[in-house]
Amino acid sequence: MTNITEAERQTEIRERVDVLVVGGGSAGIAAAVAAARTGASVMLVERMGFLGGTLTSVTLGSICGLYGLDGGRVQRLVRGLADEIIDRLARRGGANAPKVWLQTASLPYHPEPMKRVADDLMEEAGVAVRFHSLAVEVIRREGRVGGVIFESIDGRWGVEAGVVVDTTGDGQIAALAGAEWRCDVEDLQFPTTMIRFGGVDTKAVEKTDRAALHRHLEAAVAAGFDLPRTAGGIFAFNAEVVHLNITRVDVDGRPPNPLSVREMSEAEAKGRRMAELYLEAFRQHVPGYANAWLLDTGAQIGVRESRRIAGDYTIDEDEVLSGARYEDGIAACAWPVEEHGADRATRWVWLPDGTFYQIPWRCLLPKGIGGLVMAGRCVSATHVAQASLRVAGTCFAMGEAAGIGAAMAAARHGGDLRALDVPALRAELAKRGAFLGDGQPETFQPAGAELEAAR
Ligand SMILES: Cc1cc2nc3c(=O)[nH]c(=O)nc-3n(C[C@H](O)[C@H](O)[C@H](O)COP(=O)(O)OP(=O)(O)OC[C@H]3O[C@@H](n4cnc5c(N)ncnc54)[C@H](O)[C@@H]3O)c2cc1C
Repeated sequence: MTNITEAERQTEIRERVDVLVVGGGSAGIAAAVAAARTGASVMLVERMGFLGGTLTSVTLGSICGLYGLDGGRVQRLVRGLADEIIDRLARRGGANAPKVWLQTASLPYHPEPMKRVADDLMEEAGVAVRFHSLAVEVIRREGRVGGVIFESIDGRWGVEAGVVVDTTGDGQIAALAGAEWRCDVEDLQFPTTMIRFGGVDTKAVEKTDRAALHRHLEAAVAAGFDLPRTAGGIFAFNAEVVHLNITRVDVDGRPPNPLSVREMSEAEAKGRRMAELYLEAFRQHVPGYANAWLLDTGAQIGVRESRRIAGDYTIDEDEVLSGARYEDGIAACAWPVEEHGADRATRWVWLPDGTFYQIPWRCLLPKGIGGLVMAGRCVSATHVAQASLRVAGTCFAMGEAAGIGAAMAAARHGGDLRALDVPALRAELAKRGAFLGDGQPETFQPAGAELEAAR
């Protein structure tokens, strides 16, 4: 390998805002809207041409983390802005009722309307959105993060900000700022290429529970199909269409390094080949799929875990499984540890019935770095704890907290997030309807049909 020295250059600062949000997934959407509604001037920058992150680019079968289960009743654990997002999605025909499955509940959804919901939210909140722009460097000011530099078709440009919010999923801004992080390639979760099949007899699919699906796919393996995974999630939202979370993509038998563009390129192509293999296996071995066809794969492979940024506090698996509480709790989560390791089945570790844990605000602050708060799957958690809190519903909740906290710190503390009055942040979240994990959540009885449909 040879290196070259690039020429020094001048970079145009195109914008100055109170809060700059980088990455428009579930955490970024919530952060940008919440910051703008707190009175901040906000810009959201995203590398794709639409918002939603994994919700819309990878596509998921259902939004997880919104609910817990308590004695058969569904607990509402993520409220606030998430309630509004779900309402708007439902009004566009993109969501209906939560489904109870295994020992949890989640909300099946249609990814396409989510893009429009996000566009509307940004426009109404007055968030300036820039698509097709990749964050490549941070601007440092007085020893802390003071903005970000982007590359896009119209050149290299900067945004200065009172506070930057890292919602890139990969902790890209925190890493550029020099934060400590972990990404243990030997111990990562495997990624998945998401698939949708059309031409499916969804009535027959509903009669096939997870155990039966596992048996059918093991039979396919016995018949010679080299399937890496024989247990997975299947959700039917639109007529004759199912969404499958079923592939497990490796490179040389291990998870691809999500920080290697060479390995991820190999994984993308392999995931698409795998989608065709699963189609044939389903056609031949699983009831309801005889006439199935491959509708699409996600626009990109789904990465469950990459950098976990070290924060002022790191939440671990014991705290997750025991339902830990913190004075600075800003979100509640009951999603199990859902680990996609090397086995053909997924490892689930359930929290005891009715139990949920809080996520402390300190997990959102990258250790030793000023001017930057993060939200989403890159927050400070151990590998196992991250396998629980990474789900989209929980990312909405963390994002809302990060957005309000960023706006408050920019307005009242010159961007110093560690000077933030955390009880005031919590009070503001509660005022906006968020459930922070204090006391008991609202519950409701799921209808029988909802139970059935998600088996
Ligand atoms: C295969 C798979 C299946 C899953 N299944 C489910 C499920 O069924 N239900 C569920 O709730 N959760 C599921 N999850 C987990 C969940 O989808 C994600 O962990 C969660 O949505 C992450 O949200 P986020 O906002 O942190 O990041 P993301 O959704 O990844 O958003 C990050 C955004 O930042 C942008 N970005 C990144 N880097 C840059 C940069 N340098 N410059 C500009 N923009 C940038 C990205 O384009 C992206 O839009 C699944 C995840 C995977 C991978």
